[in-house]
Amino acid sequence: MRKKIVAGNWKMNNDLAATNTLISELIKKEKTANADVIIAPTFVNLLEASKRLKDSSIKVAAQNMHFANHGAYTGEISATMLKSVGVNTVILGHSERREFFSEDDNLLKQKVNKALDEDMQIIFCFGEKWEDRSIGKHFMVVESQIKNALFHIKNENWKSIVLAYEPVWAIGTGQTASPEQAQEMHAFIRNLVKENYNSTISEDVSILYGGSVTSENCKELLREEEIDGALVGGASLIASDFAAICRAAE
Ligand code: PEP
Repeated sequence: MRKKIVAGNWKMNNDLAATNTLISELIKKEKTANADVIIAPTFVNLLEASKRLKDSSIKVAAQNMHFANHGAYTGEISATMLKSVGVNTVILGHSERREFFSEDDNLLKQKVNKALDEDMQIIFCFGEKWEDRSIGKHFMVVESQIKNALFHIKNENWKSIVLAYEPVWAIGTGQTASPEQAQEMHAFIRNLVKENYNSTISEDVSILYGGSVTSENCKELLREEEIDGALVGGASLIASDFAAICRAAE
């Protein structure tokens, strides 16, 4: 059964005090959502977030991880380190990682493999740039991003995968994809999974939309049949806005 999921990507925002304040506000609003709710604070605040949310239904995710267990990778964080602070979910392939840290399909494939080996849940992000869409290449770009990093996994691995379609032109720009554009792409993605795996897997995988989702536009996006939730950046930093988005995903 497909799940409704709303995940908040806090990016490089919120120091320890701000993390605690936002978590306290979210805990107060927690009971109002039926969707699975996930927040992804910055690495240094994952332990604190994990402790604070230990008895809560809100899950904590990391925004990235390395593919190795340990070793000479200055500045990196491994899956086992994340798990040791209670984090079992990781966002991989975010467009900012692809753009500013040169993460490509091959590297992401290695990260996917590691996360699966460690039994972690993966929120796998992908999406086209405006220049791709403007020349009609958006389906092709999305297909190759998904195929190259994910389509080697086994059928049973799909229970650990959440897909997140995030058109790059919509991230942090205020220019949200229309519900029709998002629905069209999500249907394409689901069909891609069906063609390469089977209809049980394609029907069960949750496909989130991300890109300037707000408390105002969330209802019309989340009412679309193929949109199973949202990956939220900016609006996840404001408790009332994030809670409204979580409530809309039912
Ligand atoms: C994101 O960073 O994943 C994102 C969707 O950001 P925003 O909601 O701010 O566009």
